[in-house]
Order: sequence, then C-alpha cells, then structure tokens
Amino acid sequence: MNKLTPIIGLEVHIELATKSKMFCSCPSDHFGKKANTLVCPICLGLPGALPFANREAILSTVKFGLAFGCEINNFSKFDRKHYFYPDLPKGYQITQYDLPLCVNGQWLMINDQKIRIRRVHLEEDTAKLIHQEKATLIDFNRSGVPLVELVTEPDFRSGKDVIFFLKEVQLTTRYLGISNADMEKGSMRLEANVSLQGGLLGGDRMGSSEVALPDYKVELKNINSFAFLLKAIDAEVERQKGILTRGDKIKQETRGYNETTGKTFSQRVKEEAQDYRYFPEPDIPPIRFTQLQITNYKLQIPELPNAKRQRFVKEYQLPSDYIEILVSDPKRSKYFETALKIGKKYNISAKTIADVMVNKKLDNRFPEPAGLIKKLVELTRVEYSSTREVEDAVNGVICENSKAVQDYQQGKGQVVGFLIGKVQKKLKGRGDIKVMKKTLLRFLQPRGSTSRVELLNWKENNIMNKNE
Ligand code: ADP
Ligand code: MG
Ligand code: ZN
Repeated sequence: MNKLTPIIGLEVHIELATKSKMFCSCPSDHFGKKANTLVCPICLGLPGALPFANREAILSTVKFGLAFGCEINNFSKFDRKHYFYPDLPKGYQITQYDLPLCVNGQWLMINDQKIRIRRVHLEEDTAKLIHQEKATLIDFNRSGVPLVELVTEPDFRSGKDVIFFLKEVQLTTRYLGISNADMEKGSMRLEANVSLQGGLLGGDRMGSSEVALPDYKVELKNINSFAFLLKAIDAEVERQKGILTRGDKIKQETRGYNETTGKTFSQRVKEEAQDYRYFPEPDIPPIRFTQLQITNYKLQIPELPNAKRQRFVKEYQLPSDYIEILVSDPKRSKYFETALKIGKKYNISAKTIADVMVNKKLDNRFPEPAGLIKKLVELTRVEYSSTREVEDAVNGVICENSKAVQDYQQGKGQVVGFLIGKVQKKLKGRGDIKVMKKTLLRFLQPRGSTSRVELLNWKENNIMNKNE
C-alpha cells in the first residue's frame, strides 16, 4: 500500500470578550460567576423575547476575519439552526448559515504552505451542562455569549502544523484584543477533522488538492489543550492507518481523547448528516457593509504577530528565541518597545532590554517600562564606575584626609561614613556604595597588607601624573 497522508481540517470556536452577550444586555463575562445570575428572558429563550445584535461582537468578528485574510460579505445575516438539546432553551441556536460575515481567507504557514480559511462566522454560545452523579444541572450564564467560529479547509497535513496554526489563532485574538482565548476557561475550543488520503492512489499526487478527498472524516472533539490535541491527532492517524492497512473502512464519527490510554474513543456515530432546518432569523435585520466601512476596519487592525516578528528581526537584530518570547504576548512586546523608546536617551540597547526581560524577567518586577529603564541606568552606573575608578577615589580620599584615617586607626569606626561620603563625592554619585565601603575598609587596613602597597603605588602614579 502507498503512503497514507493525514488530511486535517479545523473548526475553532472563540468566545468574544464583549461587555454584553450577543443578543441581550446581560454581561458576557460568565467565567466563575454564580450559576444562573447573568440571565434574562432573551438568553433564557423565553417565548416572546426579542433578540438584538451586539454591534461590538460583529465588529470583532470582522476584524478577526480580516486578520485571516478573509473577504467581508457586503451582505450577511443570521440564521436559526434547530436541534433539541437541554443546553439550548429556544430549541434553536442563532448562527450564520449561507451568508457568514467573513469568507475565503488564507493563512501562510512558516514554510509558505497556504491554509485556506473557508469562513468566519458569529453565533451564540449555549448554556453549560454540569453533569453530576444523579442529575445534570444547567447554568445559563454562558447562554448567548458571542462565539466566533473559524472553519479551515482540510489543508493541514500534520498535527504539528495544526498546533502551530492554533497558537497563532490564539495569539492573533489577543493582539486584536477581542478575546483572551484561554483554553482552560473554555473561551477557545478546538475541533479537528481527520482522514487519511492515499491508499491505492498514486504516490506522486499525494497531498495535492486535485486528488479527491477521502469520503469520510473523523471529528475529534472536546479536547481542551494544544498538547492533548496533538496527541489525539497522532493517535487518530495511527488508528486509521491500522484500519486502512487491514483493508477495512473507517466509520464517520465523533471521537474524544482519553488522556490515560493515549487513544481516541468513539463518542457519537453520525450515520447521516443531521437536518438542522436552517432558516433566516426573522427577528434580526441583515447586516450590510459599505466598501468604505470595510476599508476603515482594515485600518483598525493592529500589527499582527507575524509582521511584528519580522520587524523585530529587521530593526533589532535579536535572536529568534528572544523575539518569540517578546512577541508571544502583546503586552510584553508593547512593554519592550516602550522601554526601548525611553532607554534610547540613555543609550540602552535593544539587546540589553530584551536580555533583562527574557532572562531576568525584570519586566515582572517593574510594571512600568520607565521603572525598568531607571533600574538599568542605575545598574550601568555601577558597572561604569570600574574597580579602578573606585580604588582611585578611595586612595585619593585617604591621602586627603589623613586626620580621619588616623582616627580610624585609633579605633574611631564612625569616621568610615564620613570617608565614604567623600568617596561618593569624588565619583560624582556613580557606583555602588557597598563596593566603595569594601574597598575603603580594605585600604584602611594597617600595614603589611597588599592594600598598603596599592596605596603607595597609587601615590606614586598620582604624583607622577601631576608632574607630567
Ligand atoms: P460538514 O458539512 O460535515 O460540517 P464540512 O465539509 O463542512 O463538513 O467540513 C467541516 C470541517 O471538516 C472543515 O474544517 C473541513 O476542513 C473538514 N473536512 C472536510 N472534509 C475533510 C476530510 N476529508 N478530512 C479531514 N477534514 C475534512
Ligand atoms: Mg462540523
Ligand atoms: Zn440575557
């Protein structure tokens, strides 16, 4: 049998961090809130309640689509998708069917492989089911929270590429400021569809989009971390290889991942496509955009991670692992560039700032970039008053204050403070006071020690210099 190539397509859901829910005024920030406290007749799906669309959520979705190279439909609308499940009080979900907000995007991977984005649409989240031993409880706080769905074409050929892409999706939402897309909080949810292409087909056409896709796909669902999704995809590819190699057919189904066994397991077998009886949502008017509006939204897209990476390489010539750490959090990259701007006045280099952020995590200790720069200026001062400079200053002070030195040698320890003051003055405030004190005490040691010799050497040098 010829080599089998994994074919993978993704469906990604992201909860938007808007103030209010998608079709009512309830707060959408539901995580960790007391159950069923953020509800109203609209998001509870009570009869007669009238939904109204959240403008902010629509704009966030448009920006998200633009970030993934999508076209924005000039005309789009919401539709009702019917199914019966306790997490859906209305008996239908308001989503977008044939005219989503964004279509036909694309994303370039590092190796220049193109991932086609089929669509990005907006819908409402469902309530949350809490399964207990004897009953299932329902929390409607999540019901109606705006949810963006991004659907790719089946263009991925490995789990590794999938994870790489998903991390970029997460980072992009953070840069756009539309969601924190936290996996642990369920505000980013992943589904991967996996099939294997090849089998009896010619090897040279493998993976090309002209080759017909397999007539089945297995949907991996309910996996809530990148690491587990990678393991699940790899395990699923192996499972399918086994079946195909035996000459058997693969069932079209939904599978979960068992972290203990490291294997996928069947959750639901879809015999035929479910009929959702879609029809246009009659209570919400369609959405129209002018070309000018779309151009304006494009202008509102901030510099995205990839562009930032490339600019950081060009402008700052930093090592790529530094750049990755700086760029992997929009707050951090902003901090870096603000610090850089302030640091310019003091000749502090990009490399120095990046270094103390990446290796010493000083950005955690100084919440404001100005604080970090102040610290760096201090540190450079300490470095700049070299050992030699401190020694020269100490020697000078000792020579010029023989009375105080005598006092010290007769046991008057309190003159040390006075002498250090003099040293500091000589160094014009530069340098570390602890180093000065150590040097001074070393130089004040009575005869026999090397420091006496240094002192004499210094005297000679100094006199010679004066004579020159
Ligand atoms: P459905 O109509 O069952 O939802 P779609 O064709 O709309 O199926 O695709 C849903 C998801 O499945 C998309 O992310 C798509 O990329 C992916 N997909 C479609 N066909 C395949 C396939 N043969 N193998 C893997 N993924 C696929
Ligand atoms: Mg699907
Ligand atoms: Zn509500």
